[in-house]
Amino acid sequence: MGIEAALSTDTVLTTQLQRVVNWARRNSLWPMPFATACCGIELMATASSRFDLARFGAEVMRFSPRQSDLLIVAGRIGIKMVPVLQRLYEQMTEPKWVISMGACASTGGVFDTYATVQGCDQFIPVDVYVPGCPPRPETLIEGVMAIQRIIDEEGMPPKGPDGKRVPLGIAVQPTHRVAAQPVGLTVGR
Ligand code: SF4
Repeated sequence: MGIEAALSTDTVLTTQLQRVVNWARRNSLWPMPFATACCGIELMATASSRFDLARFGAEVMRFSPRQSDLLIVAGRIGIKMVPVLQRLYEQMTEPKWVISMGACASTGGVFDTYATVQGCDQFIPVDVYVPGCPPRPETLIEGVMAIQRIIDEEGMPPKGPDGKRVPLGIAVQPTHRVAAQPVGLTVGR
């Protein structure tokens, strides 16, 4: 990783074990994609070469909850899907985190019907809300970075006195400015 060039090989570094554990966890999030609709396409784009989620160590999408620690709910949730979503969340490894991606996952979006869940946070604890219909990949990456910051600062997900998971409920601001693509490439010396 180039650290050998910055430090001589006989250098000794001291730190707290908790910091090392947090550093490892924040850089190796394994997402579980729960993509049910169009937001899932943006989720796929986020992992593609243009946006390259691998830069954040979170490109290893797992389709087994037992190998995942970051649930990304992308798309609308039908009432009949709720038991599946809850079971997947319960089977994920601790410590685990949840991103609600897009208007449908967070609020039901335009689907104000009896068959559509009006926000997945009614059934699972959501840590970060990513706005948009759909959110751009950059906004989803902001959400992943928000989770990374939480892991850096808190380490473990917060739990209430009853031992239940406390959802963090952080909303990412839609600040990304869309630019014409592809952007010109300049190579510096
Ligand atoms: S928020 Fe928009 S893009 Fe995402 S699933 Fe709903 S309708 Fe599709």
